[in-house]
Amino acid sequence: MLYKEPAPIKDRENPFESMMSRFNIAAEVLGLDEETYNVLKSPTRQVIVNVPVTMDDGKVRVFEGYRVIHSTILGPSKGGIRYAPDVFLDEVKALAAWMTWKCAVVDIPYGGAKGGIICDPYSMSSGEIERLTRAYTSSLVDIFGPDQDIPAPDMGTGPREMAWLMDEYSKTKGSTVHAVVTGKPLVLGGSLGRVEATGRGVMVSALAAMDKLGMDPSKSTAVVQGFGNVGAWAAKLMAERGVKILGVSDVSGAYWNDNGIDIEEAIRYKNNNNGRLQGFQGAEMMDSDDLLTANVDVLVPAAVEDVITIHNVDKIQARLIVEGANGPTSYKADNIINEKGIMVVPDILANSGGVTVSYFEWVQNRMGFKWTLQRVNDRAERYMKEAFERVYAASQKYEVPMRIAAYIVAIDKVAMTYKYRGGF
Ligand code: GLU
Repeated sequence: MLYKEPAPIKDRENPFESMMSRFNIAAEVLGLDEETYNVLKSPTRQVIVNVPVTMDDGKVRVFEGYRVIHSTILGPSKGGIRYAPDVFLDEVKALAAWMTWKCAVVDIPYGGAKGGIICDPYSMSSGEIERLTRAYTSSLVDIFGPDQDIPAPDMGTGPREMAWLMDEYSKTKGSTVHAVVTGKPLVLGGSLGRVEATGRGVMVSALAAMDKLGMDPSKSTAVVQGFGNVGAWAAKLMAERGVKILGVSDVSGAYWNDNGIDIEEAIRYKNNNNGRLQGFQGAEMMDSDDLLTANVDVLVPAAVEDVITIHNVDKIQARLIVEGANGPTSYKADNIINEKGIMVVPDILANSGGVTVSYFEWVQNRMGFKWTLQRVNDRAERYMKEAFERVYAASQKYEVPMRIAAYIVAIDKVAMTYKYRGGF
């Protein structure tokens, strides 16, 4: 069958412009000088590759892939690789910039990058994905490196792909280089706690925000949109702390239970059902659009970009939004959220637990030593809580919403570092 290019998504705000609009506001509040502004706004390097891969039917197909390095001011660039049929360069550019800000907010010594390949991993065999991953790695072998650019999983990729990437990179170097990639399987130098790290960080920042708002977790309700790695772990860990998860959703639809969904059961079900909740009996089906605007205290968007937009933001009832996904709120929705007095724990803060534990994995690889799960979780929690307090303090100081405060904290740090390092 001939591969069909996906149709472009209409009505979608350009994520790079969405990122830049917030960046501009924060830069103005900070009084950033023009020179630094120009340095920070432009991605350092954008690589487009076209890699030929032999498919199972013997035919060769050429895949387009990207690696965007937004900044290396704070250190080697860091960021995941996304496999999706609709991934596009401006999206990867935005995601790369968000990695720069995320690493700065959570105070780890990395710049930001992101990769992507236009492909549909769910319709490809494991062998095809392996050859594609190796071909992509091979074409970027001069970009990647433990002191240069360190990839990790993102949507459509996981430990399996990271293992192939590490192996392919290591082959070209003639020795095993664990630290070139994070999010690896445990036996290959992965870190304990990495798989659940993003969801755990979402839970930690949700609880920190609830504390500021005087909300009691055990008397609060939430919905989690997206039940992949981030959403499922966030839901499970929030439920363990007493939050009643009334609704969850994935690509198969949205699921609601007035008494709270049994998250452990939902995870067990999805794990035995190809990763999907389709047919889950512990809840009623509901309209996916209505899930986002349901009458709950906390909304956790944990899937893709641009789900909270001017088309539905008016109807949102939650008091608190905790962004597990990257860019789930479109720029145009920000003002209405602020007018409604909803607190947002923005993506570059709320989901930074993933890259934080990636950093711990890289540190362990370089030490040649393994930390206990307790050590990983305790340190990640400390990083998250400190980052939350930094952003909260900036929001008070500058009298801005948490999102702009997070950009202020990040831009200020990168700008200061740039001043010390200097340019040409
Ligand atoms: N893809 C994840 C993110 O968006 C993780 C990146 C990493 O661990 O380097 O934060």
